[in-house]
Amino acid sequence: MVITRVSSPQQLVDDERRLIDLSPHGQIRIGVGYPNSYRVALSSLAHQWITRLSARIEDVGVERFYLDGTGRTFEYRSPLGDMDILAFTVSFELDAVHVLNILDDSGIPRRWTQRTARDPLVVVGGPVASINPLPLSPAVDVFCLGAGEILLPELLEAVKNTADRSKLLEDLAARDGFFVPRHNLDTLGRPLGKRRRLEKRDRHIAKPDNVPASHIITPHTEYRNRGLIEMSRGCPEKCSYCWVSFNYGRLRSYGADHIMDRVDEMSRTTRKIGFIATAVGDHPDLPRILHQCRERDLDVAVSSLRIPAMVREVLQPLAQSGARSVTIAPETGSESLRHRLNKPISNQRILEAAETAQLCGINNLKMYFILGLPGETDDDILSIASLLQATHQIMLNHGRPKGRVGNLHAGVSILVPKPYTPYQGATMIDAREARRRIKLLRRALTGLPNFKIDFPSHREAVWQGFLSRGTTDAFTALEDRAAGSTVSNILNGHRNAVEAATTNPDTDDQPWSFISSAPMAQRSKDTAAQPNPEPQDSREDHQKKDS
Ligand code: SF4
Repeated sequence: MVITRVSSPQQLVDDERRLIDLSPHGQIRIGVGYPNSYRVALSSLAHQWITRLSARIEDVGVERFYLDGTGRTFEYRSPLGDMDILAFTVSFELDAVHVLNILDDSGIPRRWTQRTARDPLVVVGGPVASINPLPLSPAVDVFCLGAGEILLPELLEAVKNTADRSKLLEDLAARDGFFVPRHNLDTLGRPLGKRRRLEKRDRHIAKPDNVPASHIITPHTEYRNRGLIEMSRGCPEKCSYCWVSFNYGRLRSYGADHIMDRVDEMSRTTRKIGFIATAVGDHPDLPRILHQCRERDLDVAVSSLRIPAMVREVLQPLAQSGARSVTIAPETGSESLRHRLNKPISNQRILEAAETAQLCGINNLKMYFILGLPGETDDDILSIASLLQATHQIMLNHGRPKGRVGNLHAGVSILVPKPYTPYQGATMIDAREARRRIKLLRRALTGLPNFKIDFPSHREAVWQGFLSRGTTDAFTALEDRAAGSTVSNILNGHRNAVEAATTNPDTDDQPWSFISSAPMAQRSKDTAAQPNPEPQDSREDHQKKDS
């Protein structure tokens, strides 16, 4: 990925409107960072939330850092090497290489074996830490496995209270929720025993202060001046490819009044609010929340909606609050394949959802699909084209009389099997097969007006698959990438390891299986063994989501 270096951090600072102040002063100094550009980082609610959680802790100085920061913090230009802790939120596997880029830019040795107690403690949290930390583990002192609300205060208090670095790491290595490679791996990089991941419980969700929300509003994000608020955690469904559903647990919603407190806090700074969650449409008080936002004359958008939630009661108030576009994820056009994904929802229901959106005045639609699903046939692929054509026809029928046809946008990805899901042992399709399937779909869709489709790069998908299911051996590939090797060269140079990680047999002894989110892992096996035979509504893809 080419990252444009920020030419004027001062301009970015000046353009920020902040709901809270960050102080760089404290007994310890933490750099809170995101391994991508400022623009991508500030679009991540996870990064914004971790910054805010850090600022809550007494006597901790907080600064931020990004990939385009040339080894210094964002606001005060402090060298990253001067921090006590560098805390990265890594949401996507492909960003792992940027952790190394940032260490390089800062003059901090990449491997913990080469660092001393004078170097910052390198900490990684976020989905990548919990999905499979092994490929990054030679670079990281401490992984946080689970929710920041639980683990960050514990980590910072431990750092404040333990001057001796060796003692600190030894202590953390024995606690639930932390993975300390130098203590929790053997000399060959194999895990020693189980580590436990800690997820938010009801009592955390119920606390008013714990509703994750942006605290910095800036035009320099994907959402341009929109403040983000999380509505719920977890998911009631269990789509077979979805890491989120098997790790975040059942759906738990933040209280409507607490969400509205966040809205009111934010609306003093911006009129644009974005509600995000794996299941926004399932919040029991969504109509009331949207109604109250409309009374406040706010412009509201939501992240992708679960297809069954595409009903008039949800879409009408959304449209009245300014939404002009929604995203859904049918994943495939084939009903039988969709049922096998444990997402048993009919094409008829999808078309009704598209029609309801049009009737409510939401003209633009984005739909996500996955190629390379286990058992996928050419007919299944062609059925994606049929579903898109039928959806497009609905949009034409509604748009033409008004002289304004909305845009239909399809995003296609290649299945990257994720640890802890029923597909964790699935084999990825090879390059030739990916080309053939993409060609088949592309041909079936030529000539649709007001239609755009994005096709995936097989190479990037395999690179991601390698990092998702790789072992500590994948670190040398990350180092090659950080040194500027192309993905093609890396995949060729590490052919055997890549093949092992992307064509895994389904056994119970996967390299990453040392992290237990026990009840969820068990559910993963149950779902794999007994796909739900009853048609029921299910939800959208989170292959691409920052949850
Ligand atoms: S893909 Fe979406 S709906 Fe399906 S299980 Fe994951 S979070 Fe839930």
